[in-house]
Amino acid sequence: MVGSSTSFAAPKTVQVSNPPAPGRVAVLLPLPLAGAYDYRAPEGPVPPAGSFVTVPLGQRMIVGVLWDHSGSSADLAEQRLKPVATVHDAIPMREPVRHLVDWIAAYTLSPPGAVLRMAMGPSDALEPEEGRVGFAVAADLPPPDAKDRRLTATRRRVLDVFGGTEALPAALLAHEAGCGTGVIRAMVEAGLLAETRLPARPPRPVPDWRLPFPPFSDDQQAAADVIVGAVEARRYETILLDGVTGSGKTEVYFKAIAAALQAGRQVLVLLPEIALGAQWHRRFEQQFGAPAAAWHSDLRPAERRGVWRDVAENRAKVVVGARSALFLPFADLGLIVVDEEHDASFKQEDGVIYHARDMAVVRASLEGVPIVLASATPSLESLVNAERGRYRRLVLADRHGGAELPKVTLVDLRDDKPDRQRFVAPSLITAITETLAAGEQAMLFLNRRGYAPLTLCRTCGHRMQCPNCTAWLVEHRFMGRLICHHCGHAERPPEICPSCEDKHSFAPCGPGVERLAEEITERFPDARIAVMASDTLTGPQAVADLVARVQQHEVDLLIGTQIMAKGHHFPMLTLVGVIDGDLGLSGGDLRAGERTFQMLHQVAGRAGRAERRGRVLLQTFDPGHPVMKALAAHDRDRFLALEADERRSHRMPPFGRLAALIVSAPDADQADQTAAALARAAPHLKGVDVLGPAPAPLAVLRGRHRRRFLVKTDRQVNLQAVLRQWLAGVRVPTAVRIQVDVDPYSFL
Ligand code: ADP
Ligand code: ZN
Repeated sequence: MVGSSTSFAAPKTVQVSNPPAPGRVAVLLPLPLAGAYDYRAPEGPVPPAGSFVTVPLGQRMIVGVLWDHSGSSADLAEQRLKPVATVHDAIPMREPVRHLVDWIAAYTLSPPGAVLRMAMGPSDALEPEEGRVGFAVAADLPPPDAKDRRLTATRRRVLDVFGGTEALPAALLAHEAGCGTGVIRAMVEAGLLAETRLPARPPRPVPDWRLPFPPFSDDQQAAADVIVGAVEARRYETILLDGVTGSGKTEVYFKAIAAALQAGRQVLVLLPEIALGAQWHRRFEQQFGAPAAAWHSDLRPAERRGVWRDVAENRAKVVVGARSALFLPFADLGLIVVDEEHDASFKQEDGVIYHARDMAVVRASLEGVPIVLASATPSLESLVNAERGRYRRLVLADRHGGAELPKVTLVDLRDDKPDRQRFVAPSLITAITETLAAGEQAMLFLNRRGYAPLTLCRTCGHRMQCPNCTAWLVEHRFMGRLICHHCGHAERPPEICPSCEDKHSFAPCGPGVERLAEEITERFPDARIAVMASDTLTGPQAVADLVARVQQHEVDLLIGTQIMAKGHHFPMLTLVGVIDGDLGLSGGDLRAGERTFQMLHQVAGRAGRAERRGRVLLQTFDPGHPVMKALAAHDRDRFLALEADERRSHRMPPFGRLAALIVSAPDADQADQTAAALARAAPHLKGVDVLGPAPAPLAVLRGRHRRRFLVKTDRQVNLQAVLRQWLAGVRVPTAVRIQVDVDPYSFL
C-alpha cells in the first residue's frame, strides 16, 4: 500500500499475518530483538492492538506494545507462555504508527524493537496522571439569583473566583474567597458546587486559524489553494513547495496549517535544527495568536511528558520538532510539513539510521494526509520524484515584494590573494569597508568551528591527532582545548611536541571561525563583531538572542558557520562573504556538490532580503567549477541538470539504489576477517554491484576499526531483500558490529 504511493521499494516482509491464536498475543518490546514475542493474553476482554503492556522478560519487567492478536510463533507450548502482567490505562498506539515502525524496520534493516523505542515516548507518560480533586460550579446551577437562599455573601465570593475557569482545587478557592475549605464542602452538599477532577496540565492555548493573512501573490494563492485542497480532501499527496528564499513559502504552508486547524486536525512541522526554532515560533505565534508545541531533546522531563500526552489527546494542535517528532502519537493528524527538506540533518546517523524526511512521507501516506516538502534548494531526490510524477511540484518564482536576488561575484583566490596567514581577500576587505561605511551589515561564512582545523609542529611536522579516530584535533582557542569533532575527545594543547619534544613549536594551520574573527577584529577594530557557531552558542535561546541583536542592528559584522545560513531574516544585511567556497566540494561524498550548492545558495539568501539589494562575494580556488559557475549565474536548473547527468551515468541515487555496510570492531584483524567473510558471500546478481571492502575514510572511530562496503543496485532491484539474504549468510562474532545504512548521506 505504501510502496505504490511513495518513492520507496515496499519491503516485502512487513506484516506476517498468522491466524488468530486465541489466548495469546504478540508483544513488541523496545529492545533490539528479532521481532515480537508471544504472551498469554490477560483474563477478560482482549485489549486492543497498540495497548501498552508490561510483560516479563527473563528476570525483568518491560513495557512494550501489544502488536497483534495472532501470536507470532504458534509452536511455543501454551503452558510455557508467560502472561501479560499489566495493561496500561494509556491511549493505545495507533495503527499508522505501528505500521510506520514496521515499515522503517523493514526499510532500514533494523530490529523492529529498536524502531519502537523511538516511538514509545517518555516512560512516565504511561503512568496514570495524578487526578487531583477539584470543584466546579454545579452543572444545573442557574445564574446567581439574589433570591437564592443558599447563596450567602461568602458563597457568592467562591462562585466569583471561577471567572470562566472550569475546575479549581478547594484550597485555592478557599484562599481566593477568603473562607475556610469547610465552606466549599458545604456548597457541594447544597448543590452549588460539584466535585470533579482537575486537568493535570494547564490547557494549551489553541492556535486561531481565523486570524487574517496578508494578501497573497498569484503564485502564493495558487500554491495555497492546492495544499489547502489536499488538506480538506484528507488525501495523501506529497507536495514539493519549491521557491527561492523569501518567496513566501512559510506563509503558504501556514495557510495550509490554518486549513487543518479549521478541520479540527493536528499538524506536524519538522525543522532541521532547533537553532531555527526561535524565529519560526515567533512568526507562528504572530500569525496564530498562540504558540506551537515544541518537541526536541532539550525539553525538561515534565514538558516532554506534557507534550506527548497533549499530542495523544489532540490537545496540542501544532507540533514543531526535529527528527524524533516523526514518531509522536497524533490522535488526528491532518498535515505534515518538512521545512528545508533538502537538509542533511534530517538523516539520523546512529542507532536506527533513517531519513526523517523520507519517513515523514511514509507516515503521511499511512495516515492518508498531505505532506509539504518546502525548500529553496530542493534535493535532487525530491525534484526527480516530482519529474516522475510521484510528487507534485509547486513553484514560487519570485521573492515576495519583488526583492532582487543578490549579485554573486566569484573571488579568485589565485589572483586576489589574502596576506600571509590571513584568509580574507583584498576585494572582500574593500566590500566590508564599503558596507560598514554605508551603515549596513555584513556576514562572513566559514563552515568550520574552532580556531584552526589542524595543529602542526613547526620543528618536526608532527600533527596533533585524535587517539580514538583517524582525524586531526581541532584547536578551540576560546576553550583552550584541542577537540576531536568526531568523538569529542578533548585535551590541552601540549607545551612540548610529543614527537620531537621541542617547546612551543606548535602552529595553527588553516582557519576556523575563531581565527577569522581574530583577523576581522584586527582589520575592523571599531566594528561590533559577533561569532555564531554551534559551540559558541549554547542552546536555542542563545541563538535567538543573537539573532535578535543582529536584527536590531547591534551587530555590524556577523561571523558564523552553517547554523547561521538557515532561515534567519536580517533586513540590514547586504553583504555576505564566503571564505572557503571550495570546502565541502572535495572528498568522496556523492552529494558534495549538491550540498555545497545548497549551503552557499542559502547563505546568499541572507543578503538583501528587504529593500536593499545584497551582494555575495565567494572566495574560491576553482572558479571554473560547475557549482561556482551556477552560483554566480543563479542558475540552479543548470547546476541540477549537470548533477543529474552525472548521477544518472553512474547509476547513483536517485537513478539507482545505494546502501553502505560498515563493519567495525575494536580489533583491526577482526574487522578485516568479517569484511573478508562478507566479501566471499557477496551477492552476484544482475543489476547489483558490491564495492569494497575498503578502510573507511574515518578508518578508526571511537577506537573501532571500520571497513566499508557500498552496494549499488538498479532501481527496480529490491535492495533490502538482497542485503537481508547476504547478511543472513555470514556469521558475525559478537565484538564485530555491522551497520546498514540505506540511502547513505555520510561517506566517512
Ligand atoms: P520563505 O519561507 O520562502 O523564505 P517567507 O514566507 O519567510 O519566505 O517570506 C519572506 C518574507 O516576506 C517574510 O517576512 C514574510 O512575512 C513576507 N511575506 C511573504 N508573503 C507575504 C505576503 N503575501 N504579504 C506580505 N508579506 C509577505
Ligand atoms: Zn576522535
